Amino acid sequence: MNRKLPALAAALTASIGSVVLLASPGTAEEPAAAAAVAPAAAESPEKLYTGEKLRGLLVTGGCCHNYAFQAVALTEGVEARMDIEFDVVNDGGRGTRAEIDLYDDPEWAKPYDVVVHNECFADTNNPDYIRKITEAHKAGTPAVVIHCAMHTYRSAEIDDWREFLGVTSKHHEHQSEYPVVPVVRDHPIMAAFPDEWTTPKDELYVVTKTWPNTTPLAYSVSERNGKKHPVLWVNQFGEARVFGTTYGHSDDTFRDPVFIELLARGTAWAAGKL
Ligand SMILES: [Zn+2]
Repeated sequence: MNRKLPALAAALTASIGSVVLLASPGTAEEPAAAAAVAPAAAESPEKLYTGEKLRGLLVTGGCCHNYAFQAVALTEGVEARMDIEFDVVNDGGRGTRAEIDLYDDPEWAKPYDVVVHNECFADTNNPDYIRKITEAHKAGTPAVVIHCAMHTYRSAEIDDWREFLGVTSKHHEHQSEYPVVPVVRDHPIMAAFPDEWTTPKDELYVVTKTWPNTTPLAYSVSERNGKKHPVLWVNQFGEARVFGTTYGHSDDTFRDPVFIELLARGTAWAAGKL
């Protein structure tokens, strides 16, 4: 099932299978989405959900990460593990501030069973814009939130996005290979988690607040000061289930089958299918 470079290149400009990349003009120079697509999509991973095909939406784009590569690794990996088909909106360029057209439609979330946020727009702070997103989730659209989604809208004064995420984080520590320690073992998202797992090179996000409806599933420890920070969690935001992880900086993280399995389980769980 691994799609090699030509397919990946095609994915940057057109469509690949069920994945549609709606690239904005600013994304034309995404870094050559690196080597081959991950071994993350194992040949025949366990199916977490079979049945009527779900519709997923991945919202991605913005600063600091190889979102073209990550989008393919994520959608292929999750689609291999459950009956779901993703649309991908990769929009907003590669800067830290954007307001994308997707949310202009008040019904933007309606077609989707689950929305994955893997974007990075720290300097966007327009409360009306942010609430177009959070209100749709609060009304019941489940979500998965990854890495820089936690620093997106960081400069906003309102807390709506942070309450939606389930954690507040405004900076991160250095890149390293961080051991991930489970605190909850019996949650279905953690059912396939290995006894020990250390991330590929990734960033430790400093979490300054865990919101009341959030349950941490695993933490990592700061190499600077020994503080524990949740790195996997679940949250209830209004009517919506949310699964989050602060990891996902590097392409290597998206090549790691443990990480992709977590994303797939988190997606299935948020959608009420696990
Ligand atoms: Zn990062």
